Amino acid sequence: MSQNQNSGSWSRNGQAFEFTVQPGTLYLVGTPIGNLGDFSPRAAAVLANVDLIAAEDTRHTLRLLNHFGIRKHMESYHEHNWAAKTPVLIDLLQKGSSLALVSDAGMPCISDPGYELVGRCVELQIPVTVVPGPSAALTGLAASGLSTERFMFEGFIPATGRLRKERIAEIAAQKYTSVIYEAPHRLLRTLEDFAAAGLSARRMTVARELTKWHEEFLRLTVGDLIHWYREKTPRGEYVLVLEGLVAFQQRFEGDGPVESTSGQEPSAENLVTVLLELARAANLTIKDAVRICVEQTGMSRNDVYQQALELWRDM
Ligand code: SAM
Repeated sequence: MSQNQNSGSWSRNGQAFEFTVQPGTLYLVGTPIGNLGDFSPRAAAVLANVDLIAAEDTRHTLRLLNHFGIRKHMESYHEHNWAAKTPVLIDLLQKGSSLALVSDAGMPCISDPGYELVGRCVELQIPVTVVPGPSAALTGLAASGLSTERFMFEGFIPATGRLRKERIAEIAAQKYTSVIYEAPHRLLRTLEDFAAAGLSARRMTVARELTKWHEEFLRLTVGDLIHWYREKTPRGEYVLVLEGLVAFQQRFEGDGPVESTSGQEPSAENLVTVLLELARAANLTIKDAVRICVEQTGMSRNDVYQQALELWRDM
């Protein structure tokens, strides 16, 4: 492989851009999440000029390269071979090859093992640089209409078992917006599991097939989304953007921000009151209401139960 600097250029509106691919450097290159128009001129120039492309799925990336007339040697790098491939790629980098890492779609290292390679490069002081492109998470979040001030990227949540239950409980208690990737065949079950964790009334934006022909946004509550997807089979790629607990509370309290300007957290007692009132209004049983409150606030079951009894008696 070449150990020389490779140069390239691209032009836009007649203005030429020159650049040089540096030897011994890892380039993280963002690729489109659907719309090929989102492939940047710099991304194309880097892929055309590096010595090697490490791709999550080489057949998938080959289609992209063919479309842009790029011919390049590729190696696969994915969740099943990253441990064996990392030292091989590191060796090439240390010998002076330039290398681009791409995922099937979007930014490499987001929900793929690319971060393992980057971490190793950082440890060994191998230069890492980035050619940013779209990411489904940020694209869905931006268009969600939900608060983007603070958010938690959850990626894919575990498909089954205790880990799934624990993660959903964490998401239910998350104060700020959550961004989740989900496969179509699991979407309805995930919504149902969210509802079972007390999230029926939360707002959620389901962003489907972003930047593609069938792009669609559904901005409903989790409960309404369940009704929707019981009627309509989910197809395509999905990002779920879930309203956080603080925004949810604010909608129902209606008298200003829940968090004080001193930056203190809303008290668990306040939260219990709001949640119990909502649960009562939604005709939940006292048992379900108490369970949800305990899950969401971490308050003692006894305290919540006493408060619930009073509320149910007064209404
Ligand atoms: N690295 C990618 C990124 O930066 O967005 C994410 C890769 S992850 C393995 C693939 C998941 O991202 C899909 O299952 C889907 O949840 C989400 N995704 C990717 N492209 C999407 C699109 N066009 N519309 C909606 N979701 C998408």
